[in-house]
Amino acid sequence: MGQGHALPPPFQGGSATLKFSMNPLLEISFRVPFDKIQATDVEPAIDLLLSKSNDNLEATINSKDPLRALDTMTENLDWAMAVVRHLETVATTPALRAAYNAVQPKVSAFYSGLVLNENLWTAVKTYATTPEAKSLTGTLHRYLTKTVASFKRHGADLDPAGKGRLQEIDIALAEVTTKFSENVLDATNAWDLLITDESKLAGLPPSAVSAARASAESKAQEGWRFTLQAPSYLAVMTYLDDSPIREQVWRAFNLRGAEAPYNNRPLIAKILELRREKATLLGFSDFADLVLDDRMAHQGERAQSFLANLREKTEKRFVEENAELEIFAGRELAPWDIGYYSEKQRLALYDFDEEALRPYFSLDRVVDGMFEIFGRVFGIEVKPEEGVPTWDPSVKTYMIEDCGSFYADWFPRENKRGGAWMDSLMPKLGLICGNLTPPVDDKPALLTHREVETIFHEFGHLLHHLLTRVEVRSLAGTAVAWDFVELPSQIMENWCWERESLDLFARHYETGELIPDELFQKMKRAKTFRAANAQMRQLGFGYVDLALHRQWNSSLGDPVAWSRKILQQFAAARLPDNYAMIAGFTHLFASPVAYGAGYYSYKWAEVLDADAFTRFKKEGVFSQSTGRDFREKILSKGDSQDPADLYRSFMGRDPDPNALLERAGLA
Ligand SMILES: [Zn+2]
Repeated sequence: MGQGHALPPPFQGGSATLKFSMNPLLEISFRVPFDKIQATDVEPAIDLLLSKSNDNLEATINSKDPLRALDTMTENLDWAMAVVRHLETVATTPALRAAYNAVQPKVSAFYSGLVLNENLWTAVKTYATTPEAKSLTGTLHRYLTKTVASFKRHGADLDPAGKGRLQEIDIALAEVTTKFSENVLDATNAWDLLITDESKLAGLPPSAVSAARASAESKAQEGWRFTLQAPSYLAVMTYLDDSPIREQVWRAFNLRGAEAPYNNRPLIAKILELRREKATLLGFSDFADLVLDDRMAHQGERAQSFLANLREKTEKRFVEENAELEIFAGRELAPWDIGYYSEKQRLALYDFDEEALRPYFSLDRVVDGMFEIFGRVFGIEVKPEEGVPTWDPSVKTYMIEDCGSFYADWFPRENKRGGAWMDSLMPKLGLICGNLTPPVDDKPALLTHREVETIFHEFGHLLHHLLTRVEVRSLAGTAVAWDFVELPSQIMENWCWERESLDLFARHYETGELIPDELFQKMKRAKTFRAANAQMRQLGFGYVDLALHRQWNSSLGDPVAWSRKILQQFAAARLPDNYAMIAGFTHLFASPVAYGAGYYSYKWAEVLDADAFTRFKKEGVFSQSTGRDFREKILSKGDSQDPADLYRSFMGRDPDPNALLERAGLA
C-alpha cells in the first residue's frame, strides 16, 4: 500500500543528484527502508528537508488556502524525523545519536517557530475572514478554529510590548525549570546511606541486597549502599524491617530540593508566578485555564472539582483501609511505615504471587489472543506481513486490511530505550514497542499480567492511529487532547481482567490449561487491595497541582509549606511539618509546561475508560455492535470533534465516575 509523496529532485545535474537520490530519508516511503538508512544519511537529508519545508512555508503563506497547505507542508520532514527518532530509540549507535542530536535542535526550532511566524498568522487570519473559510464545516471548520486558537495561545495577537514580555517569560521559565530539575537530580545524587552492619538489612529481598552491595562496590566502599533512586528507595520503604532507617530514607527523599544548596522553594514560587503572568497576558484567568483550553476538561475549575468529587467518594474507604492497617500493625503508623506494613498486610490477606500467572501468559498466545479479541470486537483482521525490512531481526510485522501496517518490537536490547510505547511513522503506519520478559532457555517468553496489560494498552493506541478516518492530518489518530488520548489504550486493559476474554488466550504453556478459578479470584482481589490509598495519592498530586496553579499566590507564603497542608488531606499518616514532596515534583516543574495543571489527566482518563467499558460489560465483552460503535465514534474520529462530544456520542451521556469506583472496589 503506497503513500508515496515523491519529493522533487533537490537540484539537477552532476553527481550530487545521484548522491541525494540515494538518500533513503528523502522520499516518503510506506515500506520504510530500515535496512538501508545509515547515520550518515541523517544530516544531509534533514538539512535538505528543512530547507524544503521553509520553501513550503513560504508557499503556504502565499497560498489561497493556507489552512490545507499548512496541514501537509511538513509531511516529508515529519516522516524522516519520525523514522530517525524511532531508529535512535530502538537501534541506536553512537554515530546515529550524534547525527540525531545534531539535527534535533534545528528541527524543533523550525516546528516551534511556525506558530510564532507573523506572516503565517496573517495568512491564516486573512483566510479565516474569507467566505470560503466561513463556509467550512465539520473537521475543516474545527481545524481552522483550533489553528486560530493555537496561534492566539502562543501570543500571535499581542502587541509588540506584549510579545516581548511573553518571550522574556518563556526564556525565564526555561531557565528556572531547568534549574529546578538540576536541583532535584543533584539533591538525589548527593545523598546516600551506607550500611555496614548486615543485620540491619533484615527484610530486604536478596535482589535489593545485591543491588546495594553492587552500588557500594561501584564507590569502592564496604557494606551496602542505598540511594534515593527509585529502585533502591522503594525496596527500603517496602521491605526493610528497621523503622529508624526507613524514616531516615523517607525524610531524605521528601526533602529533595527543599534545602540549600538545592533549594527549589524560591524557584517554585517563581515558576508559578511566571506561569500565571503568562496566562494573564494571553487572556486566561490562570495557568490551568490556559493549559486546559485545548483539553477535554477545558477549565481548571472543572478538573479541580472533578478531583474533589472523587476524593469525597474515596474518603470513607480510605479511612477504613488505614484503620485496618493500623489494627494489623498494632500501632499508630508514620508515613515511612505505610508501604512496609501494607506489603505485610497484602501477604497476610492474599496468598497471591504474581509469578504464578506467568506460565499462562506466553507472548505468542497473548498476542494472537489479543488480535482475535479485537478482531471480533472491532471487525478487523490482523495478519502477519512477510518480507518487510525492519531494524532488528526480532521485530514482527503485521497488516490490518484497509487500515494499515505495523511493527511489533517486544524485547529489551542494549541499543533500545526502556519502557513501552506506540509511535506513528505516517498515516496508516505505526509501531508498538516494549521491554517484556524475554524467553529463557527453551521456554517461550512468559509474561507477567502487568506486561499483558501493557501489550493491550499499546495496541489500543495503535488502533487509534490505524483506524482513523480523519482526512486532516493534524487532527487524525492519536492527535487528540491529553486527557482523552489514554481512553482508547486504557480501555483495552479491561479485556485482561474478564474471564471470558482471558480464556481465549491465557493457557498454561505446557499443559494448555486455563487459569484455575482460585488463582483468577486471587488476582482480582489483589487488584483492589488498598485501592482507596492508591487513588487518594493520585488525587492528592492532581489536586495540589491545580491548587498551586489556580489558588496559590505569593501572599500565601512558601508554596512548599502551603502544599503540605493540602497533601495532608490526602495522606495516610500525619506528614512532618517540613514535608516537602513538591520541591522534588519534576512532573510539574521540570520544564516550562510539563504536566503543570495536567496531572489530573491520569484519573480523568481512568474514569473515561472504566465508564466506557461498562457498555461492553453490559452488552458483552465480544459484542460486535458495541465494538463497531466504539470504533466508529471514538477510534476512527481522532480530534475531528470535541472529545466530550465523541464521548457522549458513544455513551449517550457524560462520563460517570462510579464505574471507576466500582472497578477499584470502592463503590
Ligand atoms: Zn498510553
